[in-house]
Amino acid sequence: MIFSGAGTPLRAAELAKPEPGTGQVRLQVQACAVCRTDLHIVDGELPDPKLPLVLGHQIVGVVSAVGTGASRFSVGERVGVPWLGWTDGTCRFCRSGRENLCDRARFTGYQIDGGFAEETVADERYCLRLPESYSDLQVAPLLCAGLIGYRSMRMTGDAERLGLYGFGASAHIVAQVARWQGRRVFAFTRAGDEEGQRFARSLGAEWAGSSTERPPEELDAAIIFAPVGELIPAALAAVAKGGVVVCAGIHMSEIPAFSYDLLWGERALRSVANLTRQDGEEFMELAPQVPVRTEIREFRLDEANEALQHLRAGELRGAAVLKVA
Ligand SMILES: [Zn+2]
Ligand SMILES: [Zn+2]
Repeated sequence: MIFSGAGTPLRAAELAKPEPGTGQVRLQVQACAVCRTDLHIVDGELPDPKLPLVLGHQIVGVVSAVGTGASRFSVGERVGVPWLGWTDGTCRFCRSGRENLCDRARFTGYQIDGGFAEETVADERYCLRLPESYSDLQVAPLLCAGLIGYRSMRMTGDAERLGLYGFGASAHIVAQVARWQGRRVFAFTRAGDEEGQRFARSLGAEWAGSSTERPPEELDAAIIFAPVGELIPAALAAVAKGGVVVCAGIHMSEIPAFSYDLLWGERALRSVANLTRQDGEEFMELAPQVPVRTEIREFRLDEANEALQHLRAGELRGAAVLKVA
């Protein structure tokens, strides 16, 4: 499924079989989960995507060929391909354990063709081994929704009362990990989304309500998954002194001006950008211990536009996943 520019739907196309270059593996894609970032690219909210582009950065594939010098995986092995597709390894961020911030990073399904396709190639150094206890469809959302959610939650330190704004693919995974770690979860959805609130409670949230409501008690931290700038002052107002608000998404609508009172009291506001390979490895270890169970809605590859539309409309419970093979 090809993306050829903002404002146009993806279209089915036949491309030449990709050949794995030096250090790359070729994968037969089995499944690829759909992320809000895909929607931001389609909507022209992220600058300069490769064009034409194959979207998709939560790829579950089986190695079908290996390029020169590639030796980490053998033909027939199942691997995952996340958003971080390549880094230079030499910039000051890479050299200080922060490859997620690499000046020259390249991202899967953005600058590199991704997994809304039957076959793809990937740099083997950025591929992840996947926990065996998960099916292809169930494991796919761990590769971004899970990973970025996990990195975001780490940024909240040992916060006990955790608010999750936007209860989609990422939050439904984070809620499970948070409960397992002994945290208390408060879920915020769009006003009137009672089904979403029920879903959050079923995954261990002790309270679920609308993002315009105040929770029954102060929070120690909040993670904002929804790309809505108005949620920043709302979340700052809900966290206690010393609390942190983490923005997990890659794009957000304009943030309204707010009074310094909301930030005062050593409250902190920060974003989380991308992932490191270490995040990936840690989370793939952790998920089966919880065990995280992913709620998915399955689409065919040629239904990628429908999957994106459901995500845009907030009509999904959990994650949309394209079943490719
Ligand atoms: Zn993503
Ligand atoms: Zn770098």
